Amino acid sequence: MNRKYFYDYNTFLREKFGEKVYKICLNAGFTCPNRDGTLGTNGCIYCNNASFSPSISYHNQDIHQQIREGIAIGQKYKANKFIAYFQPYTNTYAPVEKLEYIYQQVLQYPEIVGIAIGTRPDAVDSEKINLLAKLAQKTFISIEYGVQSIYDDTLKWIQRGHNYQSFLQAMAISQNKGLHLCAHLMIGFPQETKEQILATAAVMNQVGIQGIKLHNLLITKDTVLAQMYEKNPFPLLDFTEYVSLICDFLERLAPTIVCERLYANTSQEYLIAPSWPAIRGGQMSDAVNQELKRRESYQGRLVLQETKSASNSDKEVHHARRT
Ligand code: SF4
Repeated sequence: MNRKYFYDYNTFLREKFGEKVYKICLNAGFTCPNRDGTLGTNGCIYCNNASFSPSISYHNQDIHQQIREGIAIGQKYKANKFIAYFQPYTNTYAPVEKLEYIYQQVLQYPEIVGIAIGTRPDAVDSEKINLLAKLAQKTFISIEYGVQSIYDDTLKWIQRGHNYQSFLQAMAISQNKGLHLCAHLMIGFPQETKEQILATAAVMNQVGIQGIKLHNLLITKDTVLAQMYEKNPFPLLDFTEYVSLICDFLERLAPTIVCERLYANTSQEYLIAPSWPAIRGGQMSDAVNQELKRRESYQGRLVLQETKSASNSDKEVHHARRT
């Protein structure tokens, strides 16, 4: 088996569950406060759920049918264990009783060993977190918070409808509850400098997440961003630039944080720019792995180096005090 120079999701799942685990994308019919008029109706400027969530097409499909079909597909790939992934829109955006009903439905299946829930940081509260914490006593529960950026100027530009503080508040009520906490970040916003992007890795090391999903900024059809890009095109990262930047990011990311995703892919059907996110699965992971190997580097190398030099300088201080 090829050595991995970063902590990838398959490795994490094998460590946790002892075997291959297949993720089933489910559409439980949720909406989103940035779509239903509560915060807005246009959504985040880049959002076209159909472009990033295959389960969007299951909209009116019974959840049990979705699960059964997902299990059948996973079994073709020789998986016996499954994570139910509530992916499109905001999957905690409902009263807590309804959430419990929805989540419990999928837990009836012995093959389902956990639930992953994609949501916005401003769509959780203590009551919802307590429900998830209760479920986490029996099964694996992952909350995937859509952070996107730690910079409020960027969050405003993408019309996200919440600020970075919302994520910190969500983390404050989610930590130490037996939950696996994952942050989604977008890389490549035109107003963010390389230094700002890399500083984000250091921030992520401090906030208490166990997982991260990285998405490259891409322009998809039928979005506000597509209209903006058409009027005023701005530079987007090409494949080589993105791989290099992700390796820089991973070198600064704690080695204990699992990289659940390295990029956002979509089909040509939706894609406007850049052209490379239609690459086949595995290609990005291979490219990042190769680049880290070429650098003789790995995830967390700079974090470990910093820790080492801090402990050396501590020793020097102690030594100086003694002499
Ligand atoms: S990206 Fe998520 S939060 Fe933003 S509009 Fe789309 S579904 Fe809503």
